[in-house]
Amino acid sequence: MSAVASLPKRYCPACANVVRLRNFGPGPNGRPHASCPRCRSLERHRFLAVLVSSLKPAIGSVDTLLDVAPSPQTSEILAGLRPARHVKLDLGLDGRRVDVLASLTDLPLADGSIDLLFCYHVLEHVPDDRSAMQEIARVLTPEGLALVQVPIRFGTVTDEDVDTTPEERTVRFGQRDHVRWYGDDFEDRLADAGLTFQRVTPREVLGADMCTWLRLSEDEPVWIVRRGSAPPARLLGETGLPAMLEALLGELTAERAARVAARSRVAVLERRTARARLGRVVRRVKHIGLSARE
Ligand SMILES: [Zn+2]
Repeated sequence: MSAVASLPKRYCPACANVVRLRNFGPGPNGRPHASCPRCRSLERHRFLAVLVSSLKPAIGSVDTLLDVAPSPQTSEILAGLRPARHVKLDLGLDGRRVDVLASLTDLPLADGSIDLLFCYHVLEHVPDDRSAMQEIARVLTPEGLALVQVPIRFGTVTDEDVDTTPEERTVRFGQRDHVRWYGDDFEDRLADAGLTFQRVTPREVLGADMCTWLRLSEDEPVWIVRRGSAPPARLLGETGLPAMLEALLGELTAERAARVAARSRVAVLERRTARARLGRVVRRVKHIGLSARE
C-alpha cells in the first residue's frame, strides 16, 4: 500500500476540506467511499473541480456559461469561474432549478455565444447525438471550451439502439434512459461534428497518488472540446496544481509522521513510568519485608 493510501484522511477539491476516508459515503452503484460527506461530490465532480481550477488561465473570463443537465455539485463548482451569465439548461422540468428548457439538439442560442459549455453524462441519453454535437460546435465561441463526459468502453465500437425497451437499455447501456454505450468511435463523432478535443484522465493530469488522495477515478476520461478541425491542441498543459496539492499532501504526511512519533514517545514514557512505579513497589515490599524481620 502506498503512503498516501494508508492515510486515514482524504482531500476533497470540490469543497476544499480534509475529510476522514471512512466518512465518505457509497456511490450511486454502491461503490465504497465515493461521496464526500461535506459536499456530496462524487469522483467526477472532484475531478471537475481540479479541471476548472487548472483551466482557469486558459478559459480566462467567462461571459456566458451553459450548464447542461445541471446538478447542485457541478453548478457550485462551475460558479467558481464567476461567469457573467450562468445559464442552466435541461430537456424537462424536475426538481432542479433551470433557466431554459430545450433539447441539446436544438439550442435556442445564437451562433458563437457560449464561452464554456458543460455537458457531463448527457449525450448517452440523446437519440440524435450527432445533432447535439453539431449544436455544441455551433454555439461555442471560437475560443470557447466544452467539457464533455460520457460512459465509454475503449477498444469497442459504440453499442446503441434508440428504439429498444427500458429493460434492455438497463442491461445493455447501464441505465433505463441511456440509448448507447460509447466506444472508440465517440471521438470520430466529435470530429465529424466539427470539434477538436484533448482527452484527459485524472491519472495523466495528477498521477496515481494524487488520485488516491483526492478520491478520483483514475481512468475516467473527460474531453476538453473546442470548435475546429485542427489537430487537438493541448488545452490543459502543465499546471501548478499538482505541485500545490503535492505540497498540501506533504504537510499532511509530515503531520501524521509527527503524530505517530509523538505517540510512540508517549508510549516509551508510559512504559518507563510503569517500570519506575513497579520499582518503587518492589522497593517498598522489600522494605516491609526487612521491617517485619527486624
Ligand atoms: Zn467535498
